[in-house]
Amino acid sequence: MTRAVGSDVILNSQVAQALAVIGDRWAFLVIRDVYQGVRQFEALRRLRGAARGTLASRLKTLVKNGILYKNPYRDSPVRYEYRLTDKGLDLYPVVLMIWSWETTWGQACAQPRALIHTGCGHSMHPRYRCRHCHVALSIRDVTYSVGRNPAPAQKVPPRFHRRSKRPAVAGGARQRSMQYLDIIGDRWTALVVAAAFFGLRRYDQILDGIGIATNILSDRLKLLVDAGVLKRSPYQDKPVRYEYHLSAKGRDIYASTVAMHEWANRWIIGKGEQPIKLRHKCGEAFESEVVCDACDKLLVPSEVRGSDA
Ligand SMILES: [Zn+2]
Ligand SMILES: [Zn+2]
Repeated sequence: MTRAVGSDVILNSQVAQALAVIGDRWAFLVIRDVYQGVRQFEALRRLRGAARGTLASRLKTLVKNGILYKNPYRDSPVRYEYRLTDKGLDLYPVVLMIWSWETTWGQACAQPRALIHTGCGHSMHPRYRCRHCHVALSIRDVTYSVGRNPAPAQKVPPRFHRRSKRPAVAGGARQRSMQYLDIIGDRWTALVVAAAFFGLRRYDQILDGIGIATNILSDRLKLLVDAGVLKRSPYQDKPVRYEYHLSAKGRDIYASTVAMHEWANRWIIGKGEQPIKLRHKCGEAFESEVVCDACDKLLVPSEVRGSDA
């Protein structure tokens, strides 16, 4: 059943708040690169071919939002490298689930190619599951409720209104090889996907649900249908009207989204009232754990390394 969800609910959800703190696709790329050990300004800039100003402003925001900190690695003259704070390190489940999605759906563009769990020595895929019943997360097994005192809806910063025409990662036609960051690194695209997770299927429902301009909504729906994240099917003739449903590829974005939701609970919401509460089919409030699919052990950042072999 579709429930009426207003923009106050979606725009205040933990995911929308996390996206506001983490930033855009460049910020995500920086976080991922720092995870992989690239820490100095020039190295980060060379890796992505980023403009100096763009990179500098993203680094500044990530430091301001407590995700990175500047660590001096040389005295006279003093030079800094960027490291993840505890809050930044705790984005690890998000980074792992993005990797997992790109490995499955991103047409072999995932970086690194493989992940090794040094705990067991095997190449592995991270498995995101319920900490209570150990069943892998599926959107169909989760219900949500809205907290009693949702804060007033945040204004979406204007810089999110326009979608860059430039692919986030080099190579490939933009739409067919849509990368994860093309979805989640553009806030409106991410919110349209979030609306689908809340069960909004029709144009007008989505329009009301996230308070988006009609031309932007049409653009993002087309992008997501072309990329195979949403499927369009008619629900009415004369005039023909369509509903938008998540495909398997779209449903698979859910794990990384819930990982962001949980991160926001730990670092943004704190002890306050959660705007959205998730419940798993086992009856418990949904809380995740991420395990190695080869040995079933919990994954910790220090025991996972990338391999391009
Ligand atoms: Zn469960
Ligand atoms: Zn393992």
